[in-house]
Amino acid sequence: GYYIHSDVFGVAGDFITSPEISQMFGELIAIWFVNEWMMIGAPENVQLVEMGPGRGTMADDMLRAFSKFPELSKALSVHLVEVSVTLSRLQEEKLSATPDQPAPSSKEGELHYKSCLSKYGPCVYWYRDIKDVPAGCNMFVAHEFFDALPIHKFQKTEHGWREVLVDIDPETENKLRFVLARGDTPASKLALKEHGGCALIADYGHHGDKQDTFRGFKDHALHEVLENPGCADLTSDVDFSYLKQHTDGK
Ligand code: SAH
Repeated sequence: GYYIHSDVFGVAGDFITSPEISQMFGELIAIWFVNEWMMIGAPENVQLVEMGPGRGTMADDMLRAFSKFPELSKALSVHLVEVSVTLSRLQEEKLSATPDQPAPSSKEGELHYKSCLSKYGPCVYWYRDIKDVPAGCNMFVAHEFFDALPIHKFQKTEHGWREVLVDIDPETENKLRFVLARGDTPASKLALKEHGGCALIADYGHHGDKQDTFRGFKDHALHEVLENPGCADLTSDVDFSYLKQHTDGK
């Protein structure tokens, strides 16, 4: 629920991210994208898929940089994976040429929940789930996305690994607590399917060498994770070695 309620970025929010600090961040990512597109033979249709675009600042800076490459702007469509309706509105305000006007080529039966024509030319489509993004030559970018996804916590006990679960504290009213599961629990598996293309993932992370990094931020300061659920940014460092294992990554 955290991202659903409000704009949590910037000085008035809980944290700030690199794209919000300087437009150069998105421009550099755009240059990476142009290079990759050229390296695969500049295909006539290419999809930029951004996971968790926040305020849409990085997408805006990338699209502006792409306008210097008319061939790419012609080939490109933009696909934003965003669960928060509040943030999708901010993204639309930032990117669209005309407010509340769907993309002209928008076909029935497609799985996007919204679309627009961007002020830079390419059409933009919004999805709740990455599985809804149409198959094609997809080039993914994700900045501070994976660290916002739900995690499982485990603790090694004398009976082996046990999952750490969240429980209602029976001693204090309106308080949550961590408890250890008595037995095994089903741990979910990450599925990142690709249909060709590439992915650039930038995040706080490690190579499988860190332990418990689950923490909360509120008003730019560390915040107890079990307090005020839904009101603080909950994050954990991304295990890049795990992502690589599942994406044949370099
Ligand atoms: N990339 C942006 C925002 C990072 S915050 C930046 O760097 O500034 C995380 C983003 O992921 C938010 O836009 C949030 O709404 C979105 N998000 C979080 N969980 C998601 C999920 N399960 N599916 C899609 N988007 C999600």
